[in-house]
Amino acid sequence: MECRLCEGNNLKLHYTQGNNDEYKFYLCADCGLVNYDLSGGLNQEKYAEVYNDPFDIESKINKAQKISFDYFSKYARNSGSFLEIGCGNGYLLSLAQNSGHDVQGLELSGFLAKSVKETLGINVKVDNFLSDNDLFDKKFDFVILRHVLEHLPDSVFALNKINNLLMPGGIALLEFPNINAFKFKTQRLKQKIGLSKKKYKKNFVPGHCNEFSRKSFKYLIEKTGFEILNRQSYSYKPVNNLIYSIFPLGNKTRVVIRKPLY
Ligand SMILES: [Zn+2]
Repeated sequence: MECRLCEGNNLKLHYTQGNNDEYKFYLCADCGLVNYDLSGGLNQEKYAEVYNDPFDIESKINKAQKISFDYFSKYARNSGSFLEIGCGNGYLLSLAQNSGHDVQGLELSGFLAKSVKETLGINVKVDNFLSDNDLFDKKFDFVILRHVLEHLPDSVFALNKINNLLMPGGIALLEFPNINAFKFKTQRLKQKIGLSKKKYKKNFVPGHCNEFSRKSFKYLIEKTGFEILNRQSYSYKPVNNLIYSIFPLGNKTRVVIRKPLY
């Protein structure tokens, strides 16, 4: 097997999942990417269409979207054209619209796209952002991709697509899990020394293709010609978030990147 990020052959088994250790994850010693061996199968249907009311601001999903927007808005101060890939119920787009951005959504789900149009009046195109077609006849100042990157086998292709959607100087927010989070490191250590064995559901199949660390994400960003403006691990719990913004040990990472002007 070859590393899906740097194409190197320096892969070592890092950890397994499944009750019989049948799902294998390999760490690339060169770029740091954790590559799931896709021959084990992939289940991404568990993330499919779930409707959440965009007006219920107390719901977990909407609170998470507000946290993402508040963080990103420090980098998206001037209003501009704003695209969210995988916009779900559209709540984040409605926040962006309220602060003056000209917003557009992109969704795999026709059902969700229609609901955003009906409830919020926001346009959502139904398509896969990885499709070969040019999706829009314009470029965007801002692009958001939350918790999608880890599900895509070819992250270089995905970042090149984002590059193509952005204007020169355009800014994107990416959110994804932190494979070096304190929680995941501890779990792997416990598993390694036989202290604990996680029980998986009978029909469990992994949904993540690639897991990123600071090192592998930096490699991806440099390979695709972006620059990093800010990067931090984060939590939805305020106290944890304060700690994780200083020490990169949180379960989730968020990164603001910029496409160069020239
Ligand atoms: Zn690699």
